[in-house]
Amino acid sequence: MKNIILIAAPAAGKGTLSDLLVKKYDYLHISTGDLLREVSKETTELGQKIAKMLKNGELVTDEIVFELLENKLCQVDKPYILDGFPRTINQAYKYDELIQKLNKDLGIVVVLNCDYEILKKRIVGRYLCKDCGSIYNTLTGVNTPKQEGICDNCGGALYKRSDDNEESFKTRYETYLEKTKPLIDFYEKKGNLYYIDSQTTDTMLKEIEDLL
Ligand code: AMP
Repeated sequence: MKNIILIAAPAAGKGTLSDLLVKKYDYLHISTGDLLREVSKETTELGQKIAKMLKNGELVTDEIVFELLENKLCQVDKPYILDGFPRTINQAYKYDELIQKLNKDLGIVVVLNCDYEILKKRIVGRYLCKDCGSIYNTLTGVNTPKQEGICDNCGGALYKRSDDNEESFKTRYETYLEKTKPLIDFYEKKGNLYYIDSQTTDTMLKEIEDLL
């Protein structure tokens, strides 16, 4: 199995596709957003600094992101999916150096394509269960919770991520267009870039399986 880098706008399905691959092929899912959200819960100065950047939808500094990522990759001994990294051309260059140092393969880079209006609904309507992490949506018609604010799976309370609102979505989407989308050219030139349609989640797994 090849390592996978997912490039996609916010809510384009990186997490969903990663979950499917983890379940079926035992991939390790590395989400830099998840790593940062963990640290943002700490009451330390660093934790609070990260929390503020996440809330505003701003990119966190490379220094912080690389420290977390390198710590994680050092312990990895199986194929992995990078979700939310790299986010900029500079991160992509530095990642090339890091995998050389750690003796890892770049693998394949997959772009998830999805319309703006669908992304917005996925973000603004997204709720998560605080106990089991199940994901729901009140706007897309997919995974609507049976009872408002309650998890169908375990009865836990549903909450919103601090950055899942329209204002933060706009900032995150603009950042994607300006800073992350140029990565498509970067990896196209390397010759390991592929595209998947992520408008509906049903076909994503099959499409990526054909690439692996
Ligand atoms: P995500 O879970 O991928 O949507 O990321 C949530 C937030 O975490 C982003 O809006 C950024 O603030 C931050 N973040 C995640 N990955 C990175 C990264 N590679 N570089 C900088 N900031 C990141």
